[in-house]
Amino acid sequence: MNRTQRPPVEIGDKRVESGTNDIVNLAVTRLYTHTNIRIPIYVNHSRKEGPVLFVSAAVHGDEINGVETIRRLLKHRSLHRMRGTLIAIPIVNIFGFINHSRYLPDRRDLNRHFPGSDKGSLTSRLANLLMEEVVGKCTHGIDLHTGSNHRYNLPQIRASLNDPETRRLALAFGVPVVLDSDMRDGSMRQAVHEMGIPMLLYEGGEALRFNEAVIRSGLRGILAVMNAIGMIQRKKRSSKIQPGIAKSSVWVRARMSGIFYARVRLGDVVEKGEIIGKISDPLDTTGIDVISPASGVIIGLTNLPLTYSGDALVHIATYDKLEQVEDSIEAFIEESVPLDHDQIDISSARNGIQSS
Ligand SMILES: [Zn+2]
Repeated sequence: MNRTQRPPVEIGDKRVESGTNDIVNLAVTRLYTHTNIRIPIYVNHSRKEGPVLFVSAAVHGDEINGVETIRRLLKHRSLHRMRGTLIAIPIVNIFGFINHSRYLPDRRDLNRHFPGSDKGSLTSRLANLLMEEVVGKCTHGIDLHTGSNHRYNLPQIRASLNDPETRRLALAFGVPVVLDSDMRDGSMRQAVHEMGIPMLLYEGGEALRFNEAVIRSGLRGILAVMNAIGMIQRKKRSSKIQPGIAKSSVWVRARMSGIFYARVRLGDVVEKGEIIGKISDPLDTTGIDVISPASGVIIGLTNLPLTYSGDALVHIATYDKLEQVEDSIEAFIEESVPLDHDQIDISSARNGIQSS
């Protein structure tokens, strides 16, 4: 064992000594009601040298799946014998989380305002605070998201795969769909990438919903990444899931306003030219078929049938070797609870976080 003390983790006005874990309440600002707003951050700072990993959720305040994923992570027994440091921020956009909203009270999207500034808007200041107090102190990161605006995503990793370490971790996460996604201007991922820190974005499920399959695969993926970077040791589980890197992805948009009837489900494999749905008006006077523009896998689907012309309905990922991905998605569905399973496993929700 390494007997030299690691320096403490300092976040806000709190110091977390090595060999301990603690909750830091990071002051953000005050509401106009005089109430202080603080973000709860869990720090497990082990005695043993190792990576410093942040895991964050609810950067979009209504994307709550990741909050539950992190709650389960913090109770996981692997953390008792961890090396390095885990910094978990289950609710980044605390304002949006309270209001069931994607945005901040100034109506901005936090994930378009990184790295932020201490003199900018409320959103920009929050981005800056996170970069200064947490992200800049880390060696690796995972940010948890869901589909937005009634859209439901098949569990998927988005990452900049041109960086070899990011690519290795994207594949280690172990979900069947991996997208080499472009940087979005102002995203946390872009700011983190520019600092040279490998970071993954995990997307799955729908905003304002818990989805058991998505939560379980997110937790498994985080533990697999922690194993891959040497923070914990996990037995290799046998799995037929082979992560497949998509060639590209395309959103199918509505060609007319009306009621959308999907003919496909998440994970389905479709052919170019296949009818994947129908849009009709409420009086059924007109209607059109929705045709798949490509062969690929359905990785996102709207759950809201009320559709304006131009609305994004179905997200399709395309592959060079589609058959391989098809087998992998089948294995994913077999190895987890069904994707449409709406019962959440609360068996672990009874006890508090175990201290190490
Ligand atoms: Zn999001």
